[in-house]
Amino acid sequence: MRHNVIGFFLAAAAAALLFAAPKIGGAQAAPSAPHRAQPPHSVRLYVFDCGVLHNADMGRFNLKKEDVITTDMSMACFLIAHPKGNLIWDTGAVPDDSWTPTGSMVTQRVTLPDGQKREADVDKSLRAQLAEIGYSPSDINYLALSHYHYDHTGNANEFAGAAWLVRQGERDAMFGGKYSGSLQPSTFSALQKSKTIIVKEDEYDVFGDGRVIIKSAPGHTQGHQVLYVKLAKTGGVVLSGDLYHYPAEKTLDRVPTFEFSQEQTRASRVAVDAFLKKTGAQLWIQHDFDGNAKLKKSPQFYE
Ligand SMILES: [Zn+2]
Repeated sequence: MRHNVIGFFLAAAAAALLFAAPKIGGAQAAPSAPHRAQPPHSVRLYVFDCGVLHNADMGRFNLKKEDVITTDMSMACFLIAHPKGNLIWDTGAVPDDSWTPTGSMVTQRVTLPDGQKREADVDKSLRAQLAEIGYSPSDINYLALSHYHYDHTGNANEFAGAAWLVRQGERDAMFGGKYSGSLQPSTFSALQKSKTIIVKEDEYDVFGDGRVIIKSAPGHTQGHQVLYVKLAKTGGVVLSGDLYHYPAEKTLDRVPTFEFSQEQTRASRVAVDAFLKKTGAQLWIQHDFDGNAKLKKSPQFYE
């Protein structure tokens, strides 16, 4: 009798498993199962919306309001997903942890160390945009910033577990203790202990196959750089960093007043122009509000 009871329970348990099994792999289990991105077969470039920056003073760019379509600047962050790993390029102005998404635009005031205030609108966290395509910050292998200004370092600390690709002069300025108004050291302090790859080459090939290249373009800051991504269908794209902020800087030949070296910026612009000609790549001016508005945003991607 006792054996029969145990047998009954075993049979019942087996039946329960049989009925439960299809649900584990089925639609019911899917929402709670984390969707983890697999390495793509070819390079993908994702564009994230890291907010909009309002600019009150066009004089800083040696421009007038009449010279531009809008004084607003887009802030784009990028993920380059390569078969051998992935790279985050620039991280916005507003740290994810400093605000709560509401589903519509939230205006955040950023106060810089010298008391200057900037206003940025954000509506999606970078973390949420990464999660939407199956990545968490811990999945990121490399972090590279075009430069150290606050509107590019906002979420840098999130990627302190990645290998940081930076030039020596840039890193020295970031941890040198003397800060101009455009730095927000609290947003990148964790990088001080990151695995760091000091980039010395003019052109640094991140994955060794010529498809993702960090190119030196100093002037805006000591170690400012741009990123070339060679995509199978789209062709070559150069992400500008702040080599230009507004297209009018290019067409009217204007260099901002707050460069580390205006002379170096001019030389970098000439060098990047030659690079664009040689590669046939398009230039995406990261802060160009109109240009950015036309780009496909994640979860869509360029390949
Ligand atoms: Zn910027």
